[in-house]
Amino acid sequence: MAITSENKPKSVRYIGTQFRYALLYVIITFAVLLFLNIYSSKISQELFYKSKETSMIEKCQLTASEISALEVLNPSTAAAAITQMANLNVTRLLITDQNGIALFDSEETDSKIGEAVEYSEVATALENCDVFAWNYQDGAMQSRAATPIYAYGTLIGCVYIMEFDAEQGALIQSLQNNILAITLFLEAAVILFSLVFFLAFSRRLRKIMASMRIIREGDYSHRVKMGGHDELTALGNEFNDLTERLQTSEQKRRQFVSDASHELKTPLASIKLLSDSILQNEMDIETVREFVGDIGNEADRLNRMAQKLLSLTRTELPEENPDCEIILIAPTVEKVIRMLSIIADNNNITIQTNLKDDCPILIQEDDLYQIIFNLIENGIKYNTPGGTLTVTLRRQEDNAYLCLEDTGVGIPEDALEHIFERFYRVDKARSRKSGGSGLGLSIVRNMVNRNRGEIYVESTVGKGTAFTVVFPAFDTES
Ligand code: ADP
Repeated sequence: MAITSENKPKSVRYIGTQFRYALLYVIITFAVLLFLNIYSSKISQELFYKSKETSMIEKCQLTASEISALEVLNPSTAAAAITQMANLNVTRLLITDQNGIALFDSEETDSKIGEAVEYSEVATALENCDVFAWNYQDGAMQSRAATPIYAYGTLIGCVYIMEFDAEQGALIQSLQNNILAITLFLEAAVILFSLVFFLAFSRRLRKIMASMRIIREGDYSHRVKMGGHDELTALGNEFNDLTERLQTSEQKRRQFVSDASHELKTPLASIKLLSDSILQNEMDIETVREFVGDIGNEADRLNRMAQKLLSLTRTELPEENPDCEIILIAPTVEKVIRMLSIIADNNNITIQTNLKDDCPILIQEDDLYQIIFNLIENGIKYNTPGGTLTVTLRRQEDNAYLCLEDTGVGIPEDALEHIFERFYRVDKARSRKSGGSGLGLSIVRNMVNRNRGEIYVESTVGKGTAFTVVFPAFDTES
């Protein structure tokens, strides 16, 4: 079977971002350490160079001043003058005349006395300049310096000294070795740290991604456990919150579908039963009429329920800018009472009103009408014959309070917290008989909440129920 691009198994391994960051980190630290390494070596050599130059030029000048005091400069006078001087502690000391011919050489085995000295430092000194040079060779420093010798303002020769210093060389070498060792150690530590960081980071990311896959498969109870206090922990917490919301809404959706199908099943079963009875039994026309009437009632109930379900779905949708207007509560209450007065009369219920204030509020007109309609309808439906329903409207501080108090059957305390749930009915038989679907109060609460209001209920079984709806009053003067 051919595998299309849509059902190919996904086995992508992500190493991109964190790997790139870790590599960049290693490269940057390597560059910094390399720079520090070269810089510190250069500085240490420079320091050595400076101190050596000063001391060797001083030694040259000291010798030059001794020689310049001689009346005649020749090999024997030069040797005599040097012998009288304190030991200079140099490897080689050379005195030349103004032509670069050696007059004194401390080196005995390879003495240049009488020969032309061809060292570049000697040539430079004979051009009236002090000169210093050094190089590093076979683990030792070789430093050379030369200065011209003057007598009565005339150049008469030059002094050349050379020092071979294995100790200083070893010192510089060990300094450079130490710096290199520290650099290598630091770079190794950086690589190790980057590796640990990279592995830990990608392990935590993989954990979140694995959790996402589990949720995608439909296991909404799964939660990702992230330790620590960094951004990934925050991401994990956000992810868990999101999953929790998904789980809740999925539970609500399932509950809603099962409740709705259960509620729809009952009238449908009645319709089926009634129509089967008509078809299967010999009946007189009166009974048939009665059965068909019942079928019509069940169909009406189904219709009402479908409308309420639609209304409920509408109120559950998040509405960014509801179409609000400034509406007076009192006239709306009166309109609803006019609509329901026939039902109230039929049930022998007296509706009393106490609408002192008009109470303007900002609300969707249909919502306000529906809220008041459902609450007054319930106050009639769940009342006892001869009972009353009192509707009071008052304004207190910045709020409008609408209270509906009936003298009906009341609601048991344990049921109070459920009455705003969808399809919840305290007395199923009574509610069904009066055409109830258990959706009215859910719709009321959704509408109240989305218009920035709140609803409260108090009830005593056998005495009555009081619903209070609070809306922020709209001040026309403000
Ligand atoms: P229904 O369509 O069944 O009336 P509601 O959502 O309007 O559904 O009400 C939920 C339940 O709350 C009702 O079934 C009823 O048992 C109870 N109830 C609501 N209003 C009153 C009231 N004024 N007095 C007593 N019980 C009430």
